[in-house]
Amino acid sequence: MQVFEKKSALIHCLSLLKGKNKQVGFVPTMGALHKGHQSLVLKSIENNDITVVSIFVNPTQFNNVDDLKKYPKTLKKDLELLENSGCDIVFIPSVEEIYAKTVVSKIYSFDGIENQMEGKFRKGHFDGVATIVQTLFEIIEPTNAYFGEKDFQQLQIVKKLVEKEELPTKVIGCPIYREKDGLAMSSRNIRLSNEQRLEVPLIYKTLKKAIEFAKTKSIKDIYDFVQNEFDASSLKLEYFTIAEESTLKEVSEINFNEKNRAFIAVNVGQIRLIDNLSL
Ligand code: AMP
Repeated sequence: MQVFEKKSALIHCLSLLKGKNKQVGFVPTMGALHKGHQSLVLKSIENNDITVVSIFVNPTQFNNVDDLKKYPKTLKKDLELLENSGCDIVFIPSVEEIYAKTVVSKIYSFDGIENQMEGKFRKGHFDGVATIVQTLFEIIEPTNAYFGEKDFQQLQIVKKLVEKEELPTKVIGCPIYREKDGLAMSSRNIRLSNEQRLEVPLIYKTLKKAIEFAKTKSIKDIYDFVQNEFDASSLKLEYFTIAEESTLKEVSEINFNEKNRAFIAVNVGQIRLIDNLSL
């Protein structure tokens, strides 16, 4: 496995491989890797000649300075996991290597998808995400890029980015990888106390019940049920939304002919967790 910090060296290495007609799979990450990330890496390895993983905690997608400061960093373990998984190339650039002089995002428009859910609660987040994804795609020029449905809105934004900017990469969504008790794996889970860890399975449990209720109850009853579940716990519900997968617009009634999905964001002390489930 080769590790690069400089984009010029990475571009040179990739140009030699692409000259040999190799298909490149790419998995962008912010590190603190877990089995969810690994599932994307394994999928890339299965379907490409070369797999590149980037580890870069992108400052412009954090709307909360404290969240950025406390973002877990486990580089040595991450490199071990990637090596053991069969990854070929890891890119670990510095902030200066990516942003040169000014650490700012480009401003994008994604037909309104960026204003729903996470867009309402994390101002500027998706401009930061799109900026780093476009920058990395332009450096790596991957054939295929793998993103988790864990960040479903991000996945839709990246698909739109590729369409609008006419980038020559296929974006592939991968299912959410969960702990045995249903908790969606997340780098932020490491920050949970033992007590908090025992409480957070409520997120998936409530999502599952909400999906079940969607077959028989009104939207209002489902929203009330979810709010009550969290009011009775120490977790703080930031939003619960049932939305159309393609536009991410909240639906006023459930239509089983359209693809609908339930989305949730919860604060556990200072830690913010998100999850979603298809209806
Ligand atoms: P992150 O390091 O959090 O930026 O995540 C990097 C990629 O891994 C993103 O495409 C995420 O959606 C994906 N990912 C994170 N957690 C999971 C999970 N539990 N299951 C599947 N994919 C995930």
